[in-house]
Amino acid sequence: MNNLILSLKYRPQSLNEIIGQKYTVNAIKNSLDMNYIHNIWLFSGSHGIGKTSIARILAKSLNCKIKISSKPCRKCNNCIEIEKNNFIDVIEIDGASKTKIEDIKDILENSKYPPIIGRYKIYIIDEVHMLSKYSFNAMLKILENPPKYIKFILATTEINKIPETILSRCLNFYLNKINIEEINKNIIRILKKEKIFFENEAILLLSNNSNGSMRDALNLVDQSIILGKKKILINDINKMLGIVNINISLKILEYIFYKKNETLINFINNIYIENVNWELFLLDIINILHKIYLFKFNIKINKDDKYYIYYKKIKNISKISSYNKIKLYYKILIKGRKNLYLAPNLKIGFEMIILEILTI
Ligand SMILES: [Zn+2]
Repeated sequence: MNNLILSLKYRPQSLNEIIGQKYTVNAIKNSLDMNYIHNIWLFSGSHGIGKTSIARILAKSLNCKIKISSKPCRKCNNCIEIEKNNFIDVIEIDGASKTKIEDIKDILENSKYPPIIGRYKIYIIDEVHMLSKYSFNAMLKILENPPKYIKFILATTEINKIPETILSRCLNFYLNKINIEEINKNIIRILKKEKIFFENEAILLLSNNSNGSMRDALNLVDQSIILGKKKILINDINKMLGIVNINISLKILEYIFYKKNETLINFINNIYIENVNWELFLLDIINILHKIYLFKFNIKINKDDKYYIYYKKIKNISKISSYNKIKLYYKILIKGRKNLYLAPNLKIGFEMIILEILTI
């Protein structure tokens, strides 16, 4: 494996390589193939879900020497230079660093001149919401009457910060977070290509912690590859993410339901795991409580569920607990999770939630 960061090395180069975003990808394909090209495109949604990748592919599709197409050739000079981010008529601007009026004035000035090589002069403005009010006004001037050869492709994580006057002129696409299954599949595909050894459970855990962002997921994979020296193992990932073993979460619930208060307090104090992720720990306890409740309704745990191997213990707790107790504990835990980050530190927050349950 070379030293390239995975999220860069595997950045999608064609619309078919975009993970998730089926609706947006289809709409763009249709638009390109029907030659129905809007002047201003806006892609919004959280980070790492493909906005900039789509913007660059779109720029390539519009400027491929052969023709405007949803499948740019990737062989002509234009395509090659755009992929290298080196094409004179595709101007990429980072809104976060170019917020001043002068920056936008430059664009305004330059947009008078037609493209030099390409079919269109394309401005890709990333994090466009960061532009100042004055910059937006200056931009509006171009947008009100853009020359035929100008296209704008805007991307933002915060669409609510974009003025209505700009929004109303854009062809607007909202990109969704990518679902876990698709992230998981893509990671496995990449690791096989890179010939990296991995345990399936470890990859699933990474995918689950990617927050629906392909970039976050691949950054976690990069980190794991270094940590495990090209082996991605579940034990390493647990440690890396600060994830507490399910056994420990289960023990806490057992102590609560079997009313072993003192043992529980000692137990929590003695948990020593480096860099515990207390929120995930709390979530794990909430998840198990949910399983305990389901058992009350005779709903069993699926065999492919990660809690399945603990099902006997979970069933036993369910037998000795009442509906009301479970519901009450659940409420406290959910409310506690909401306030966890208000505590002086997360461990204290966690302890207080558990102590609140004990004092009922
Ligand atoms: Zn081409």
